[in-house]
Amino acid sequence: MKCVGFIGWRGMVGSVLIERMIKKKNFDNIIPYFFSTSQIGKSGPILSKNQDINILYNAYDTDILQEMDILVTCYGNDYTKIIYKKLKKKKWKGYWIDASSYLRMKKKSIICLDPINKELIYKGLEKGIKNFIGGNCTVSLMLMALSGLFKKDLIDWISVSTYQAASGGGSKNMCELLEQMGFIYKSIKYDLKNINYKILEIEKKIKNISLSNIIPKENFKCVLFGSLIPWIDKRMNNGQSREEWKGQAETNKILSSKKKIIVDGLCVRIGTFRCHSQSLTIKIKKNISIQEIKQIISNDNRWVKIVPNVYEETIKKLTPINVSGTLNILIGRLRKMNIGSKYISAFTIGDQLLWGAAEPIRRILEIIILNT
Ligand code: NAP
Repeated sequence: MKCVGFIGWRGMVGSVLIERMIKKKNFDNIIPYFFSTSQIGKSGPILSKNQDINILYNAYDTDILQEMDILVTCYGNDYTKIIYKKLKKKKWKGYWIDASSYLRMKKKSIICLDPINKELIYKGLEKGIKNFIGGNCTVSLMLMALSGLFKKDLIDWISVSTYQAASGGGSKNMCELLEQMGFIYKSIKYDLKNINYKILEIEKKIKNISLSNIIPKENFKCVLFGSLIPWIDKRMNNGQSREEWKGQAETNKILSSKKKIIVDGLCVRIGTFRCHSQSLTIKIKKNISIQEIKQIISNDNRWVKIVPNVYEETIKKLTPINVSGTLNILIGRLRKMNIGSKYISAFTIGDQLLWGAAEPIRRILEIIILNT
């Protein structure tokens, strides 16, 4: 059995990965080792009722890391930058599976999303590729939703606006959103109890506290609760944010497109806890009916579910809170737009910790174990 080292398993992506691996009995086929940058010597995750305690190894100890056949990291770019190079210097020949973006666009890496690019993955394994990197969450979720249209070469371009959850920034960001909520609620809770409360005075109080320096905002750098942040990640030279840049770059890499598909838009952080939503304008290449489009989308994979374009079903199903914690990829608000018969609108939601991060990683690990 292969020795598999897990780094970053305590975080949001890592803990969802461990949960899924336990559910799918993936630990039965490997010898797992758990690492930490901050909890060395403490106990690792509980995988089954009667297990011995897992002691956490030092995630910076390359002597132990190089003993692993496969390393799965859900920690982040900074870790990958340092440790991957060190292991390569030591001539480590194992498989590197990563949720962070540092190695994604490298020539010798494959972005894994096997329902979409299974062939590329198997060809890569045959050729000896050793780096399999999970895609950007919004990109993977968008591809899962529109895979049928991509495979039939029906998409000319996509314009997108995202609505990305606080937890997309990691566990600290999710906690900060909760702290901001508590902070603001505490400051107005007595005003709310007064039956003669004046709502505009409460709103003014909230605004003043939100703009003050006393509210926690170390991670988001501004208040997210009751607000939004139309910028995610660094600035690129063309004015896009890096998150927006990934839309086109990663889509084309995953699909290994011969002709570049244009994907562009704005990425926005909102105060939801889990799930990323995306509002899409899609230019299709042929004038086909919405009915046909729905069929192509829903026939592609078993996770994508169409929500009829009616109010009652939309507010019941097409919401982050409904999709959260599931592998379902919902897509609704499908209709032809006033711009012309080849323009369709769509709204899609997926759990960014599952199909957007942990599930492609879990599945590539399974593929590597079974095929190497
Ligand atoms: P995270 O929640 O911030 O966790 C990363 C690591 O931080 C943990 O494994 C843990 O490592 C350490 N940590 C410190 N304080 C912690 C606490 N209170 N609770 C839990 N862990 C704590 O990061 P993440 O969101 O899982 O993201 C990991 C990587 O996946 C990043 O590269 C990210 O860009 C990428 N990604 C994230 C998402 C998402 O939706 N969050 C989606 C796709 C990809 P130690 O045990 O070593 O201390």
